Amino acid sequence: MLDIVATKTHDEARQGESYKPFTSDPNEYKRKFYIESYGCQMNFADSEVVASILNKEGFGATRNVEEASLIFINTCSIREKAEQTVRKRLTEFKKLKAQNPGTLVGVLGCMAERLKSKFLEEEKLVDIVVGPDAYRSLPQLVEDAADGQKSINVLLSREETYADIAPVRLNTNGVSAFVSIMRGCNNMCSFCVVPFTRGRERSRDVESIINECTNLFEEGYREVTLLGQNVDSYNYNPHSDNTDHAVSFAQLLEKVALISPLLRVRFSTSHPKDITSDVLHTMAAYENICKCIHLPVQSGSSRVLQMMNRTYTREWYMHKVDEIKAIIPECSITSDIIAGFCTETEEDHLETLSVMDYSQYDLSYMFFYSERPGTLAQRRYADDVPLDIKKRRLQEIIEKQNALSLTSYKKDVGSTYKVLIDGDSKRSADDWVGRNSQNKVVIFSKNNTQYKKGEYVNVMITQKSHSIWKNRLDRALVSCFVI
Ligand code: SAM
Ligand code: SF4
Repeated sequence: MLDIVATKTHDEARQGESYKPFTSDPNEYKRKFYIESYGCQMNFADSEVVASILNKEGFGATRNVEEASLIFINTCSIREKAEQTVRKRLTEFKKLKAQNPGTLVGVLGCMAERLKSKFLEEEKLVDIVVGPDAYRSLPQLVEDAADGQKSINVLLSREETYADIAPVRLNTNGVSAFVSIMRGCNNMCSFCVVPFTRGRERSRDVESIINECTNLFEEGYREVTLLGQNVDSYNYNPHSDNTDHAVSFAQLLEKVALISPLLRVRFSTSHPKDITSDVLHTMAAYENICKCIHLPVQSGSSRVLQMMNRTYTREWYMHKVDEIKAIIPECSITSDIIAGFCTETEEDHLETLSVMDYSQYDLSYMFFYSERPGTLAQRRYADDVPLDIKKRRLQEIIEKQNALSLTSYKKDVGSTYKVLIDGDSKRSADDWVGRNSQNKVVIFSKNNTQYKKGEYVNVMITQKSHSIWKNRLDRALVSCFVI
C-alpha cells in the first residue's frame, strides 16, 4: 500500500482499533457499546471522550461487536482511501444489524461532518450521524434513534473543547497519554479537508489541561502528548478583551513541563509557520520537553507550496530547519510529504527530494495527493498528475526517506540515550521496549536490570535493527548495555 505509511498522527497499526473495556472500572454494564477508530490521533482521543459520555449513560465498552447494542465508527476524511475503508466496515455492520435488529449503528467524526444526512437518507447505512463537535448530544441522539427518529447532529462549534470531560483512556499502556489542547484549524491549505470537517480553531482552558496532565502523572503516566490539528497556534485567552492574560503555546509547554521533571512532554501536530523561537527556546530549556519536532513540509517547491496555500517558501522552511538545529542541536525533525499535487512537475518533485536531504528527516509520513471534495484545490485546480506518476514519485520519496532514516539510525550506534520504558517488546518478553527523547524506539534486554515499565533508564545503543523497514514499528535501536 503506497499512500499510507505508519505515522505518529495517523498510526497505521492503530487504524480500525476497537476499544478495550476499561480494566479498573468497577461498574457492571448491561448495555454495551463497540467503537472503532480511524484517522489521526485526534480521532483516537475523541473516542476516549465518547467512551466517557457513553459510560455515564450506562453503556460499557466491548471488543466483541456482536454483543454491542451500539456500534460506532469514528471516521477520517483526509484521503479517499480512508473513506473507502469506513464504507466497507459500515456495509459489514449493516449485515450484523440485520441479524440483531435492535442494534444501532452510528458514524462519528470527519466523514459524518462531510457527508451529513447523506448517510441517513441516500445510503441508509447508519442510524446516527454525529460530527466532531456534537458528542455531548450523543445520549439524546441514541434515544431518538431507538425511537426510530432521524438522529443527526453535525453542528460545528466555535467553543467546544470537551474541557470538562475526563477521557476514559483507550487501550492505554499506562505510561503515555494524549491530551487534547485545541480543536479545529484556521489554515486553509488548499489540499486539506480538515478546516471543513473540524471547524474553526479554539484553544482549551489552560487550567483544565494542567489538571488533566497532573492527574495523569499522579496515576503513574510518564509522558503526555499535547494534541491538536495545529498545536503551535494554541492561544488561550480567558478575558478575550485583555491580551495580557493570553497563554501562548510556548507558555503552555512550560507549564506542563513544570508539573514534574519526570513527566515527558511531546506535541503533535504543527504547521511550520507557527513554531516560534519562543517555542524552540522553551524546548531547549527543559530536559523533559522531548527533542522532536514534526515540521510537515508537504512540498519542496515554492511554486507548489504557494498553490497549496502553505504560506511559506522553500527558503523560509530551510531557514526554520537551520533555526531548530541552532537552538536544539540534538532535535529530531520529522515531516509530512505529498507527492503529485496539482501541476507538480519533475523539477518540483526533485526540489521535494532535495529539501528532504537538506532537512535530514528522521521520519516522514508520505502520501500521494488525493483530491478531496469541497477543498480549495478541488475547486481551483485540476488533479492533473497521472496516478502512475504520483505513485512513482511517492516511491522515490519513500526510498529517499528510508536512506535518510538509515543514516540517522546508524549515527545513533555508540550513543547513550535516556529511554522511557513503554513495556514488553513485541518481539520478546525478555526485552523491554521504550523510546528516547527523539521518539526513536529502543529495545534492550531485561537481563540483570531491575527496571519497571514507566521508568527511565540510560541505554547505550549497540546496533540498529536489521529488519526491512516498512513502517515506523519496524524501526528500532537495539542495545545490550544499560548504563
Ligand atoms: N496540521 C498538519 C500540517 O499543517 O501539516 C497536518 C495535519 S493533516 C490532518 C495530516 C497530513 O495528511 C498532512 O500533513 C498531509 O501531508 C496529508 N494530507 C492532507 N490532505 C491530503 C490530501 N488531500 N491528499 C494527500 N495527503 C493529504
Ligand atoms: Fe490541514 Fe493545513 Fe490545517 Fe494542517 S494546517 S490541518 S494541513 S488545513
